[in-house]
Formats: sequence, C-alpha cells, structure tokens
Amino acid sequence: ARRSALASWNGPGTTSDGHQVPLLANVGGPAELDAAVAAGAEGIGLFRTEFLYLDRSDPPSEEEQRRAYRAALEAFPREKVVVRTLDVGADKPLAFLPAPAEPNPALGERGLRRFMKSPGMMDVQLAALAAAAAEAGGAGLRVMAPMVATAEEATWFTRECADHGLSDVGVMIEVPAAALRAADLIAMVDFVSIGTNDLSQYAFAADRRLGAVSALHDPWQPGLLDLVAMTADAAARAGKPCGVCGESAADPALACVLVGLGVSSLSMAPSALAGVRAGLAAHSLEQCRAAAREARAQPSASDARTAALVHLPGLA
Ligand code: PEP
Ligand code: MG
Repeated sequence: ARRSALASWNGPGTTSDGHQVPLLANVGGPAELDAAVAAGAEGIGLFRTEFLYLDRSDPPSEEEQRRAYRAALEAFPREKVVVRTLDVGADKPLAFLPAPAEPNPALGERGLRRFMKSPGMMDVQLAALAAAAAEAGGAGLRVMAPMVATAEEATWFTRECADHGLSDVGVMIEVPAAALRAADLIAMVDFVSIGTNDLSQYAFAADRRLGAVSALHDPWQPGLLDLVAMTADAAARAGKPCGVCGESAADPALACVLVGLGVSSLSMAPSALAGVRAGLAAHSLEQCRAAAREARAQPSASDARTAALVHLPGLA
C-alpha cells in the first residue's frame, strides 16, 4: 500500500478525467538533477545552461559542457530533456565575451541575439550537446533557444542545430511579438515553450527584478493569459507541443488555468511538482477550461484569479 501511495504521489501529471499533462522540472545546474528525479519529474522542461558560463574567466570547453549535458540526459534516460542554449545578457556580463555598452540591457543583445553575428560560442555548445546525446544513447535531447522574437531568428537557430545533427529543436516564447506571430515561429521548429517571466516583463514593460512594478507582472494578468492562449492555439493548429516553463506553472491554480488554455506540458522548480500534480489531479479538463475562460474574461489579475478559483474548488 505504501508503494502504491508513493507511486500515485509521484505519478504522471493528469487531470481527474485522464487528460495527460507531463510535469517537468526546471533545472539550473547539475546539483538540482537529483531533486528533479526525487520529485518525480517526467523529464526536464528547462535546463538553464548559464551556470556553465558565469563567474569564470574563460568559456567552458566542449568537453566540460558535454559532461554536464550527459549527466542531465542520464538522469532522465527515457524522458525528454530540454536544454536551453546560453541566455546571456548585458546584465550578466561574461569576462570572456565582451558586451556592448547598452542603456537597456533587457532590450539589448540578449539570448540568441548575441550569437547571430558571431555564433562561435554557440557552435561549441551545440557540438557539446550533439556529442552528449550520442554518448547517452537516448533520443531525449531537445534543444531550445532563448529570447527569440521573429520567425527568421527561429529559422536561423533551427539551421544551426541541423548543422550539428540536432533535430528536435524549439524556441522559447518570451517576447510578445513571438506570441503574436506564434504560428510563423512554430512552423520553423518542433516545439515551443512559453517563458512567462520574460513574456510578462516585456508585455507589461515592467522589469521583472523591480519590486516597485511587481503588480504589473502578476502572472494572473489577463493580458498575459491572452498571449499564452494565442501561443497554445497556434501550436495546437500546427500539431506541435507548447509548454510553459516560467514561474507561473508552479502555482497549482494557475497551472490548471494554463492547461485550460491549451498548454501541453508544465515545467517548474522540483519543489513545486507535488502541489501542481495534486491540483491537476483534483480537477477535470472541463473545469480547467472553464477556469481559463472565466479568468480571461476579467479586467484585472485579482479578478482573474478569483473567477478561476470558482471552477477550481480546493485551490483557493
Ligand atoms: C522565463 O523567462 O520565463 C524563463 C523561463 O526563463 P528565465 O527565467 O531563465 O529568463
Ligand atoms: Mg526568460
């Protein structure tokens, strides 16, 4: 009995009526892999690779990276592991990658933009990923680019990956223009993952690190929910997966709303998995859809939350 109770606690994400929603882990470095496995993650939805690059005077070698990626693939040998290429920004200076002086680093050569003119360092990363996938012998590796704004950028990234033999390729949707034109971007990739932290920052023109404007990037903002819905609809029409890997997926009630909006997987800090799993298991897909519909019909974040909770008993 104890075993089966444990198994159901850590079982796959599903609504009460059996709609499957893989629950994945956000991982910021090798030390978090054990926690992700222990929490019953069904894969890694976001492996942030910044840890390999920050606070050092030279870039990580291909060999060093290959070992780190292989460890992630081996922690989840049968599951999908989404590795995000370096999300560098002028607010996270790298000693070995001179940054242009930028008055607004969040709007500068961040993420993928930084490598489009000189892809050398990204090529090393992609080579390390291809080598790790070959060694780990699994087919689970997915590669994803941060801060993609246009379909041209998505196309460029997909070609770079193809040059390294990497075929399961996606982009983050975290710039409002990418959500507005999600169909164009999705046509160029195998999957998308919505980063609600940055999507909210850019949609509301509110610095995500600034407490004074935190009410604006409340993840219940109906404007943010609309952008998620547009992206999920476009992905569904294309028949491709659309996950969420921003912090909003970690709130059990909002996670139900995201599922109701059509999101196909949720990725979060390992510590949030149990709560989201339980919240989802207690509600039907129709309840999630009703919560999503009512939330989007409201004029404010707090009204959206209140309206959604009416359809999600037990999560108030
Ligand atoms: C996001 O922007 O929502 C995201 C998941 O990426 P990060 O928090 O690393 O910018
Ligand atoms: Mg982001």
